Amino acid sequence: MIKTDVIIIGGGATGCGIARDLALRGIPHCLVEKGDFAAGATGACHGLLHSGGRYAVTDPVAARECYEENLILRKIGRKCVEQTGGLFVRLPGDSKRFREVFLRGCEEVGIPAEVISSTRALDLVPNLNPEIEEAIKVPDCSIDPFRLCMLNIRSSELRGGIVYTRHKVTEILKSHGRCIGIKAIDQSTGDTREIRGNIIVNATGAWANMIATLAGSEVPMTLVKGSLVITNHRLTNMVINRLRHPSDGDIIVPNEAVCLAGTTALPIDDPDNLITESSEVDTMISEAGKMIPHFNNTRIIRAFSGVRPLLKSKKADSHEISRGFQIINHKNGMYSIVGGKLSTFRLMAEKMVDTIMASFNLKKPCETAEIPLEGQEELSGYPLAKRLSNMKGIVCECELVTRQEVERIIKQTATRNVGDIQHRTRLGMGPCQGGFCTFRALGIMNDMSVISPEQSMKMLRGFLQRRYKGIRPALWGDQLREEQLVEYIYLGILAMEKPE
Ligand SMILES: Cc1cc2nc3c(=O)[nH]c(=O)nc-3n(C[C@H](O)[C@H](O)[C@H](O)COP(=O)(O)OP(=O)(O)OC[C@H]3O[C@@H](n4cnc5c(N)ncnc54)[C@H](O)[C@@H]3O)c2cc1C
Repeated sequence: MIKTDVIIIGGGATGCGIARDLALRGIPHCLVEKGDFAAGATGACHGLLHSGGRYAVTDPVAARECYEENLILRKIGRKCVEQTGGLFVRLPGDSKRFREVFLRGCEEVGIPAEVISSTRALDLVPNLNPEIEEAIKVPDCSIDPFRLCMLNIRSSELRGGIVYTRHKVTEILKSHGRCIGIKAIDQSTGDTREIRGNIIVNATGAWANMIATLAGSEVPMTLVKGSLVITNHRLTNMVINRLRHPSDGDIIVPNEAVCLAGTTALPIDDPDNLITESSEVDTMISEAGKMIPHFNNTRIIRAFSGVRPLLKSKKADSHEISRGFQIINHKNGMYSIVGGKLSTFRLMAEKMVDTIMASFNLKKPCETAEIPLEGQEELSGYPLAKRLSNMKGIVCECELVTRQEVERIIKQTATRNVGDIQHRTRLGMGPCQGGFCTFRALGIMNDMSVISPEQSMKMLRGFLQRRYKGIRPALWGDQLREEQLVEYIYLGILAMEKPE
């Protein structure tokens, strides 16, 4: 049994941010995550570090929080934020009145917004629709959510924080009505681990009500599914937004060598049962194509969905539900933190840890806005320039990941899960979606004796199922051709069609 002060459940941006803040304030803690870091909404998001422009009209409080955090994250997270800048583009027929309201909203919140001509916008982003009427330039950025979580966790681990990934919390332990700990099941071995603590923080996003229920409490939430598509090209170097009331498919974000376009907003009940509908894929491509016409004939390599953990609302249009966050004191030793954005995760963590410090009667102030994220040089090991300079022993040709890099992650994390290698190196994230490199990575894990051949076959089957879920909605053209080749490799050469 492990004893600590604070138990954090959930390893998304919010949970990892709380772990970093607690570490910097010297509070012992343990974070438990059922998958890998960023397994929930964090890893399924657009990766837009909002300037706040998106919410300037509908949600000024969230807009101000986004802008302030945007300034902070650009400063402390230089290696996981790309300062792309963003454009809100007005297409023929888009309301001029909204343009005025938008500019007024930005001014009131303090977001720098510069109106530029269509000619200047086309100079900045040559792939833009030449028909655009004008654009408004804002300080949007692109942010890597996986790297963000790992960097936050690094600060925790450096200061003695205990971290368990692939451990699912199944029980909240109580004594005299107060939460005193948790039980979590190791997803690889099935073993149960017991952890005791004085305070439990429920940072499980869309799963927050399920965890609260284990403690006899409740978290009122509205769960809103959003879907995204990924292209195999970077069609823009700036974030592109549609200048209109927030709606489906109006944002395109560049990330490394690709672009993410979306999103949709559909209320759902079960965050574990997500299906990306073909109709959503059609909507996202056609809406993105209105801003960047190349979208209509560029290869889509994947579509996926995540769930926004929003505060309970009766609003019929999910786009209008507040992106603000809330800390709920269940008055039994457990706090839940829900709502918010990836962009505001640091602020959410700060407020959560302020509350914890007050309950411990301790006074050390928050420093997460001043101290740069630690380990950025080492953990940002996969920018393209760096990968191109080290082309020996390539395991993943699409993303230029080397054998040496894969071996380093296996040694460092002692992982027995190929997904953990993906999240840390980008292995399998390119056009073939792991078709050519996953069996190689599993082979390396075999060579290094971390898994047996039987385990790797089981893992490969699980991987292929998950992979197919993301590729299925984007199966046409080149992606379909490549998928057939990959299918022949796995079913024909590796005989994966045989039952276990
Ligand atoms: C499609 C989409 C696009 C978005 N785009 C953006 C964007 O561009 N910019 C932006 O700022 N925000 C964006 N958001 C919002 C943002 O992703 C979320 O607000 C944020 O990531 C929430 O982080 P979180 O840590 O609170 O929750 P999550 O990331 O969902 O983390 C919760 C974690 O809890 C874990 N967990 C659940 N149950 C258990 C259990 N029993 N035991 C242990 N662990 C458990 C989960 O595995 C998960 O990792 C987007 C959201 C969606 C869905």
